[in-house]
Amino acid sequence: MANGENTAGGYTPEELEKIWNTAISGAELELGQECVNQWIKPVGLKRIDKDLAILATSTSFLADWVERNYGRELLRHLHAAAPQINRIDVTVSKTGQRHALPGLAVKPAPEPVALRKPIIETGGDGLHSSLLDPRFSFSSFVVGKPNELAHAAARRVAETADATFNPVFLYGGVGLGKTHLMHAIGWHLAEHHPKRKVLYLSAEQFMYRFVQAIRQRDTLAFKTQFRAVDVLMIDDVQFIADTDSTQEEFFHTFNALIDQKKQIVISADRSPDRIDGLEDRIKSRLQQGLVVDIHPADYELRLGILHQKIEDMRRSDPEIEIDPKVLEFLAHRISTNVRVLEGALIRLFAFAALVNRRIDLEMTQECLADLLRTVERKVTIEEIKRVVSNHFNLRMSDLTSARRSRMVARPRQVAMYLCKMLTQKSLPEIGRGFGNRDHTTVIHAVKVIEKLKESDSQMAEDIEVLRRNLEGR
Ligand code: ADP
Ligand code: MG
Repeated sequence: MANGENTAGGYTPEELEKIWNTAISGAELELGQECVNQWIKPVGLKRIDKDLAILATSTSFLADWVERNYGRELLRHLHAAAPQINRIDVTVSKTGQRHALPGLAVKPAPEPVALRKPIIETGGDGLHSSLLDPRFSFSSFVVGKPNELAHAAARRVAETADATFNPVFLYGGVGLGKTHLMHAIGWHLAEHHPKRKVLYLSAEQFMYRFVQAIRQRDTLAFKTQFRAVDVLMIDDVQFIADTDSTQEEFFHTFNALIDQKKQIVISADRSPDRIDGLEDRIKSRLQQGLVVDIHPADYELRLGILHQKIEDMRRSDPEIEIDPKVLEFLAHRISTNVRVLEGALIRLFAFAALVNRRIDLEMTQECLADLLRTVERKVTIEEIKRVVSNHFNLRMSDLTSARRSRMVARPRQVAMYLCKMLTQKSLPEIGRGFGNRDHTTVIHAVKVIEKLKESDSQMAEDIEVLRRNLEGR
């Protein structure tokens, strides 16, 4: 296995393969088998040049895709496998030159991923922060009900130096913005309080350094290094539960820092008391500060984030266009986590460029079919009919009946609209579910409701209540 001294070209193909396989196993745990098979396995580790890992894959599309969507994760797992790696670049191998598809301009190769700037360092004492992603700032973070507490806590840490709440413990499921908030703290401090020393580390990096210090019997130096830090942030601390001795060290360092009023910010995917293998006294210490959870984004927040991402993208490409209806559709349908939502958006733009098409609802459904299937909450037409008829005080049979009075027709249109938005059913299938109506009737219903939603706030509210109801949130 690699060590710190081993630099450029010093790796045999077998060693490279071993590192790559280790990184892949890590990525599998985080991203899931399917995703790794589809996107990561077609990539190989070609070379390690000092701290830069050069990966190669067959097409420029794949290279851009992997780098944009999985760059951060890959870097982290490569770093865990070979700690000298601090940057990655995904290139196209000779056999598959970066080539343009017909009608597509060749884009310049992107810079090595995310960790572009050597960001914040703690000075000449040997401790280096992980690099911060320039996209993750407070200004690009959209605040909504589900994350407002976490956001306020992060702001507080960034803006005041008093360490009132210590540690600040942010927790929540994957892709809800924990890392984004921590990086935002880092950027804010770098900009407004450049003298304050900030150290941001993933738990894996933290552990790695710990273990190294223990091996070199130099934990004292390690602790001294941490003393120079004003703000210590450790991301994904659920990975820290390790052997007793490292926990012991962690605990002491942690206590020492708190005693010195150094601000500590920690993130995890669950609350302190639910982290397996963590000693009770550490759990309770973690709970003595401010523990805030980030809830899954609701529809409004999801939509807000999508608009924000489009705005971010426009900064590098002002031409970018997308039908607002598509954004609504995505926010409706993808409620798992923000990362998936963002991935969907990137994929849409990639496909739109590849096939040179405008992004409308139809192409969205086509291009994201597999993704939509996996995130589908399996709302059925029957369920929609039941919930809608309840809401409007009708019988379910009214919706399938031939009655055309507005009292019945409008709720029926609402139900059809919701079927289109919330299920994968085709228009004819939906029509059949409503007393064998024609698919053109369904199209008409969708159009009518879409229009009404704009002009009639009561209608917009009804739809939102129904949607929430159906999606169980
Ligand atoms: P976590 O660390 O909780 O797993 P991340 O911070 O990596 O999640 O967020 C995943 C992606 O979602 C990032 O690209 C991040 O920018 C985006 N994201 C999450 N929440 C928000 C938000 N409230 N506003 C803007 N972007 C967000
Ligand atoms: Mg994270």
